[in-house]
Amino acid sequence: MRKFIIFNPKIIMDDWGNVLKFGKDRSSAAEYKNNLLKKAILSYLTTHEEATIADLSNELTWSVPTVTKLIQELKEEGYLTDLGKLETAGGRRPNVFGLAADAFYFLGVDIRRRRLEFVLLDFKGYILHKKQEVPFVLENTPEALEQVCQETEKFISEIGMNRKEIIGIGFSLTGRVDSNSGYSYTYFNFNEIPLTEVLQQRLGIRAYIENDSRAMMYAEKTAGVVKEEKNVIFLNIGRGVGVGILIDNKLYSGKTGFAGEFGHIPLFPNEILCSCGKKGCLETEASGLALEKMFVEHMKAGEISVLSKQWKKGKEILLYDIIQAAHNDDMLAISLISEIAEKLGRGVGILINLLNPELIVIGGTLSLVGDYFMLPLKTAINKYALSLISKDTCFKISKLGDNASVLGVAMLIRAKIMNIL
Ligand SMILES: [Zn+2]
Repeated sequence: MRKFIIFNPKIIMDDWGNVLKFGKDRSSAAEYKNNLLKKAILSYLTTHEEATIADLSNELTWSVPTVTKLIQELKEEGYLTDLGKLETAGGRRPNVFGLAADAFYFLGVDIRRRRLEFVLLDFKGYILHKKQEVPFVLENTPEALEQVCQETEKFISEIGMNRKEIIGIGFSLTGRVDSNSGYSYTYFNFNEIPLTEVLQQRLGIRAYIENDSRAMMYAEKTAGVVKEEKNVIFLNIGRGVGVGILIDNKLYSGKTGFAGEFGHIPLFPNEILCSCGKKGCLETEASGLALEKMFVEHMKAGEISVLSKQWKKGKEILLYDIIQAAHNDDMLAISLISEIAEKLGRGVGILINLLNPELIVIGGTLSLVGDYFMLPLKTAINKYALSLISKDTCFKISKLGDNASVLGVAMLIRAKIMNIL
């Protein structure tokens, strides 16, 4: 029978790990300590897949009898699995233990401008279920937030999951997000209490929010193209432009979560008003949104494109359409994408000079263009960044594509609860 275990000393959970109350722990001092020790074992196994009692005893510097007793309890409570005997050249063959995949589950929800995405991870961090392309329009209204909650509940019921077994939900959101305080400042900022509390009260499951670019950076670190690199910049180039920053292997959020507002660096002496209210931001000339606007302006001026028919019929021209046109060798799309990439390269040059990263991961919708985007971007970076610094920097294109943010935020709530962040 599972007892309750403390995943965070400030949170009280019931037998199934579901949040009952946020506040002081009610258990006895001995039970509290026992739970903290067990949590340390579970945290270790979150990052190491498997371990023997001797490994845990060495790593956590506790006696073998203490580890043996705790392992036994964790097994009986359903958190650990005995994976069998370790194969050795000879002598004693110790047992190996790992997390029990079905002990708990974690849910990731990606709130996009035009859709929602869902993913369910098991206790070991593997994807069990996913649902993509759920129609949704992001607006800063209570109705839109309620729709997010309803679709989340629908996903939970569709996969037939007992909600008490889901011990955390991570929400990835565009704009300014302070994951420590739980406040979102760009969207769903109409309540006085933090957004995470609003979501927890509504859904009855511990909630966590993170900026989409940081969630993508975390997905690349845990399941993507980042290998040993510890100082990495993830460029999220969609309609807007954001960056996720990894410094010394840790996500960098800044004091209140605003770090990475790359798109709002005032880089161009223009009079174009940005979504943030200022003029001349990088995003006004070097983003998917800028590309959409430039594309339409060129067609108004009489230039021909494979999208001309669609535009003349009054249909909106979106970033995906322009990328598709570039793949079909549309000259207007290719030349404007190249122009955007060149301008973006100036900004990336600043990031390289400032942070001296080992690796830059190019992600977001515009990265799907491939060479038409990457070649002018790299040329511009060579032109604008100090060569002594930029020659240290490698570039990789994200392989997770559009799945990066939903996977990243699910991995983040798991890491937060398992205390490995
Ligand atoms: Zn701006």
